[in-house]
Amino acid sequence: MKIKFLGAVEEVGRSSILVKTEKEGFLLDSGVALDHSVKFPAYVSPDEFSTLIISHCHLDHVGSAPLFFIGGAKKAFLTKMTKELSRILLLDMLKIAKTYLPFETLEINRFLQYSTEVEKDKQYEISEDTLLEMKNAGHVLGASQILLKFKDKVLLYTGDMNVNRTRTVPPANTDYNENIDVLITESTYATTEHPPRNQVEKELIEESRKIIEDGGKVLIPAFGVGRAQEIITVFHANNFPYKVALDGMAKKVTEIFMNNPEELYDYKQFARAVEKTYILQSDQERRYVAQEPGVIVTPAGMLKGGPAVKYSEEIAKGKKNAIFLVSYQVEGTPGSTLLKKKVIAMGGKLVKVNAEVKQFDFSSHSGRSDYINLIKKINPKYVFFVHGSKENIEFLFNEVQNNMKDTKAIMPKINEVYEV
Ligand SMILES: [Zn+2]
Repeated sequence: MKIKFLGAVEEVGRSSILVKTEKEGFLLDSGVALDHSVKFPAYVSPDEFSTLIISHCHLDHVGSAPLFFIGGAKKAFLTKMTKELSRILLLDMLKIAKTYLPFETLEINRFLQYSTEVEKDKQYEISEDTLLEMKNAGHVLGASQILLKFKDKVLLYTGDMNVNRTRTVPPANTDYNENIDVLITESTYATTEHPPRNQVEKELIEESRKIIEDGGKVLIPAFGVGRAQEIITVFHANNFPYKVALDGMAKKVTEIFMNNPEELYDYKQFARAVEKTYILQSDQERRYVAQEPGVIVTPAGMLKGGPAVKYSEEIAKGKKNAIFLVSYQVEGTPGSTLLKKKVIAMGGKLVKVNAEVKQFDFSSHSGRSDYINLIKKINPKYVFFVHGSKENIEFLFNEVQNNMKDTKAIMPKINEVYEV
């Protein structure tokens, strides 16, 4: 088997891995990297593979999939939730990408129309001698680990993974029924030990309460898929006595969550949280909410577009207000600049923020010891590290090299072919 890494090499973004047997090729994920522009993975000819398998809906995993549906089509496999959520995120990308994209709505629709929905923990014969099984990855609704069973080898690609439960997504399923020969693991937070979720929840609730009781307002910019829904549930589950409002694309995603109760960690709790949340529809409601004390949860999580930008301009002015970040902040995004320098862009200028600014570690990825425990549990012959900074990848590489004598650790290079 040959493996070639086309992206997410020493970076978080544009995941894409080509796996080739003697007979066939499989492309695992096809993402983009979004910072100032849209960046694609390294080129792969459509002749090199027959089947595309998508781990989850985030654009750094699915953003370039429609490329393979321009004037043609591939076999594609993903879960039902990944399909529904990818549709929203891909169409949103068309709107927010300020650069030319080589595909349009037509290709996005073709991609989704041609793809096969996969149920978790079931085996699918996706080609001669190859079985596919997708297992819950815990990271976001629909996210899956990709398990490929070839004639003589088993490969596991984690996609993005979280072994810890959150308010909305059940934890990753790490019960594997077979020996795994080749592991390709994400490394996003390989050097970070996350604080316990309960503690982070308590901090957010307490700090929000303080701001409101002092007469301020709280803005929580949150990813529209997953994090926004989790945050409204956190407020409800902790009996937060003040108004919580939800705006932007997160509303549509909340509807999808409501329509798929079996996917959620605790549907009843989520449904009650939604019921108690002010889902903002009109500008009149928005104006009303902006004047009243309370919490507004809205995308984008890194303040790159979405209603969060408009709200932040207003909320930033007040000394009594707060902007609480609850999502990963990619270097160079407005959210990361806000956190580091306490400024936001307004009317083309950087303006000082008077409101309190703070970040809370609501991660949807595993933490340091989770990565190490998983690699040890699987004990593969080969392990490749992707989707992480150089520092994180080197950390895991050294851990494996120093402590696991039967496992070969590899820090892949872009476009390099590895034979296993
Ligand atoms: Zn992700």
